[in-house]
Amino acid sequence: MALLIRVSESRLDRGKVSLVSGAAGFLGSHLVDRLLREGHFVVGLDNLLTGSLENLGLALQNRKFLFVPEDLAALPEVHLAGRLDYIWHLASPASPVHYRRHGVETMLVNSLGTKRMLDLAVSCGAAFLLASTSEVYGDPEVHPQPESYWGRVNPNGERACYDESKRFAEALTFEYRRRYGINARVVRIFNTYGPRMQPADGRVVPNLIRQALRGEPFTIYGTGKQTRSFIYVDDLIEGLYRALTWPATDGEVFNLGNPDERSVIDLARVIAALRGVEPRMEFHPLPADDPTRRCPDITRARRVLHWEPRTPLETGLRATINCFMGVCKRHG
Ligand code: UDP
Repeated sequence: MALLIRVSESRLDRGKVSLVSGAAGFLGSHLVDRLLREGHFVVGLDNLLTGSLENLGLALQNRKFLFVPEDLAALPEVHLAGRLDYIWHLASPASPVHYRRHGVETMLVNSLGTKRMLDLAVSCGAAFLLASTSEVYGDPEVHPQPESYWGRVNPNGERACYDESKRFAEALTFEYRRRYGINARVVRIFNTYGPRMQPADGRVVPNLIRQALRGEPFTIYGTGKQTRSFIYVDDLIEGLYRALTWPATDGEVFNLGNPDERSVIDLARVIAALRGVEPRMEFHPLPADDPTRRCPDITRARRVLHWEPRTPLETGLRATINCFMGVCKRHG
């Protein structure tokens, strides 16, 4: 059945109206909180496959937030009665462990789900942001990666369900923009970390923090010399916010990430130092198609959005560790 979202004009005041898909996820929930702070009325969609209502603890107490627990990919149509200014399309599993486990769901939300959100952008005249990923670059031959690089992706490997469906979502977004003249942009999000990451989502930052807190050895995949660039969630949300609400962003693609490139071993050493322990490493096989290097070229975001990450890795990790200590206590 088609979904009709009704928001009565009396709840809207005069502020902007935003719809966030993937609202209960790590990034989605931080974005919802930010938009509420900016005075937006926010409709949050999420099927809770990998997201959690706990992330929306603050938002659910706010009368300007409406939560819609629906699966975008399963809905034939999504309509909204009333005004809609912005669509932030973040819905998708994002950790390699999650998208490998839910490969088909990942492909459907990034294809059918993206189509639903684009159709809504057309019918409501809303400006649209697609949360894409640095994974569209695959295992890159160009370093650091500018937005103009087309990537090197295995089309049928274990990461393809995520990489290729995000590439499809990008293509569909630009096709809608050409055909229907919608106002749309794509952001490619690099490895992001911070409070509200699920301790067991399998990504490297939560894994290593959890291991440090339990006094276990660090699980290092491959040699640990592969690199990533880790951006703190608050910096990422600022970039997302500007990418959709600032002028001169229609039709753009932006890398949002931290150019501070680190090897996995380096990350483990920083986490160990913050906990005041000696790093003990336990080496495991590298997962298939695990990219060797990953670092964003953020020249465009600097120029158009006047944006760059501000939080040093040590500072962001300290905040994340503190949050995990709370989470770990609650979850035993
Ligand atoms: N990794 C690791 N140990 C872990 C989890 C991940 O060495 O316990 C490595 C993984 O192989 C990859 C990097 O850390 O090279 C980042 O992995 P993550 O799953 O966080 O994100 P990705 O960038 O691969 O999507």
